[in-house]
Amino acid sequence: MGTLYQANCPCGFKQIDLLQGYGVNHSDTSYEIYQCESCHMLVNYELSQQIDTLFKPIRCPECKEALIHLAGEVDQQQHPCPECKKDTLSLSVVGLWD
Ligand SMILES: [Zn+2]
Ligand SMILES: [Zn+2]
Repeated sequence: MGTLYQANCPCGFKQIDLLQGYGVNHSDTSYEIYQCESCHMLVNYELSQQIDTLFKPIRCPECKEALIHLAGEVDQQQHPCPECKKDTLSLSVVGLWD
């Protein structure tokens, strides 16, 4: 079971369809949410095996900086916004998927 998140910021920035977790029919594939250290872009990565995270460096597609893994209760935290750069971006659960 995975969780579907949506990111919202009071400045108007919005990003939908952020997946986290495993699908029931794809137990070897998981989705993880990352955020760029530099431009704060949100990136949704599909990891086919855990080994990918160890050996494949995950970089921002925009600026090639390192990405921070957003793990755990991501909807309980505030995140920097890619648009206004303030720590006012929040993720909310919009559904479950499998
Ligand atoms: Zn970036
Ligand atoms: Zn913002």
